[in-house]
Amino acid sequence: MHDHDSGTGLLSVPEARERVLSRVAPLAPLELPLQEAYGCVLARDAVSDRPIPDFPSSAMDGFAVRSSDVRAASPAHPVELSVVGRAFIGRRPNATVGGGEAVRIATGAPVPAGADTIAPIEVCEATEERVRVHQSSPAGKHVRPAGEDVGEGDVLVEAGRRLGPPELGLLATAGFSHPLVHPRPRVVVISTGDELIPPTETPEYGQVHDSNAYTLFAALREAGALPVMAGIVPDDVDALKETVLMHLVQADAFISSGGVSVGERDVVKAAFFRRGDLDFFKVAMQPGMPQAFGFIEGKAFWGLPGNPVSVFVSFEMLIRPALLKMMGRAELGRPQIQAVLDANVSGPRGKTQFARVSVRRSYFFWVASPTENRGSNLMSTVSRANGLAVIPPGTETAPSGSSVQVILFRAAED
Ligand code: AMP
Ligand code: MG
Repeated sequence: MHDHDSGTGLLSVPEARERVLSRVAPLAPLELPLQEAYGCVLARDAVSDRPIPDFPSSAMDGFAVRSSDVRAASPAHPVELSVVGRAFIGRRPNATVGGGEAVRIATGAPVPAGADTIAPIEVCEATEERVRVHQSSPAGKHVRPAGEDVGEGDVLVEAGRRLGPPELGLLATAGFSHPLVHPRPRVVVISTGDELIPPTETPEYGQVHDSNAYTLFAALREAGALPVMAGIVPDDVDALKETVLMHLVQADAFISSGGVSVGERDVVKAAFFRRGDLDFFKVAMQPGMPQAFGFIEGKAFWGLPGNPVSVFVSFEMLIRPALLKMMGRAELGRPQIQAVLDANVSGPRGKTQFARVSVRRSYFFWVASPTENRGSNLMSTVSRANGLAVIPPGTETAPSGSSVQVILFRAAED
């Protein structure tokens, strides 16, 4: 493909994304129980082996009768029929309806054979054995026919569709208890750095709380993947290798943060298992320059820089689309809008800048307010944002009042 250690050439964002996307594939489908299949993409058409509903039922309390028997019924000339049985909900009716006969029926109960219409209780005068019907009722009236919703052999849910609430309900109706779906990838999250401690501990001077693991946990959950928290690994090659090996069996992919640049402590770089397992490259984007990507024992491995804002932006731009592809999703991008900047944003020469902005709807257009000062690299500026404005390479300044493309990473109202 190319040199794994060609750390010199800068890849554009689309090139970097393509490099990753071209090497991941949808995970092999599994038959999962409905609750686990929720949110997953269906891997083959779900075809109904029965009509839905699968029996005709009454939409009213009353009597199941033959329309031909009650055709002439009116208040002045009611038609008298003999009551030969009952139809309860959830059971086969205990009688069929012949000429001159009626079966007492409850709403939702199966319509007995021989009847083609329902005379509602309101137009009937009944004793135990006889009923007088005061109104005609054409065939099919107040009957919910079998197959009204879905016919036998019809496609209930198409392959490629993500299973949301209506799909889960529809599959359950048709008795699909284990639909075939692309599973959610299990992604192991590793934080590297001698300076890191968990947020539960009080830092000594110079120590830093591991925040990247939590940013990634939430980003993974939000993308629909299953994070596996592997914790903090010191800047030690053997410790990193051991952590990776320990988690291989339960992983579809790995994300590490820290240790991918050129410093002497750059543990991911030093630890890649065999020459060529991981590819180290630089992406022409700010933030998030140095990156590693490859496969270890067949599992995708992303090595992100340690900087927390870089972690967030790299995940958005390079990892999230790949995870969605692994989940069988067709649309891999976020929604994007055109918005008008309400302040100047300066772009780094030769790189795409992803400027954190807060977008809101004005009367006729969207307005994007930068949440950062020039050059700032602080997580609080991401937290105040809901979008990343794309400032293309070569733009020295995107002036206030100009239009920019904004990637929405959360709903504008969140
Ligand atoms: P590195 O890429 O390892 O050189 O790290 C770059 C910067 O990110 C350093 O200031 C690290 O302390 C910081 N950093 C690395 N990993 C984490 C982490 N898991 N949580 C918070 N900050 C981190
Ligand atoms: Mg480090």
